[in-house]
Amino acid sequence: MRILLAEDDVIIADALVRSLRKAGYAVDHMTTGADADTALLSQSFDLAILDLGLPKLSGIEVLRRLRARKSPVPVLILTAQDGVEERVRGLDAGADDYLTKPFALPELEARVRALTRRGTGQPRQIELGPLVYDQAERMVTAGDQIVDLSARELGVLEMLMLRAGRLVSKEHLADHLCGWGEEVSTNAIEVYVHRLRKKLEPYGIRIATLRGLGYSLEKPAEHA
Ligand code: CA
Repeated sequence: MRILLAEDDVIIADALVRSLRKAGYAVDHMTTGADADTALLSQSFDLAILDLGLPKLSGIEVLRRLRARKSPVPVLILTAQDGVEERVRGLDAGADDYLTKPFALPELEARVRALTRRGTGQPRQIELGPLVYDQAERMVTAGDQIVDLSARELGVLEMLMLRAGRLVSKEHLADHLCGWGEEVSTNAIEVYVHRLRKKLEPYGIRIATLRGLGYSLEKPAEHA
């Protein structure tokens, strides 16, 4: 899941980026409306979080342009506490939800989970053999056990589970794991896959390597 964050307040942005990345999202952080507009034009995101008071181009204008292009990307706007009018204009311009500053991070994370769930139209739970991945909780379980995965491992497994049985390239994985300015090398992807293999082995789940191409998550053999 890839999120665009447009916020010019460094302290707020830092806290948001850290908390979202910790939750396993890839985050691209922009500090001006113009940069956010360019990013939304050229890249695909699962969610945009827009501060309305942005330099170069206001958050409202970024949102209007996005909706004028008929983009379905869910948008969460961040508004000032006394900004009732601003909030109404944002919702009128096509925002899906808003948060009033200051807000608690768990509240932001809950809104992000709800909006990304709505946006993808994908099932909330993906099952593969004994594994169940809950997209809302960002958690993998097997029976009543939680499978212990790092945020990056979870990101890789999510992409593989969404395309179980099909090829997923290393580049695709690297793209969806990180935002701009962050580098995830294909070597790092190999390490995450190596760790995932070890963790998934007890459940009969295999990750096949298609040399030079990428990976494919194999469904466990059905036992009659
Ligand atoms: Ca601002």
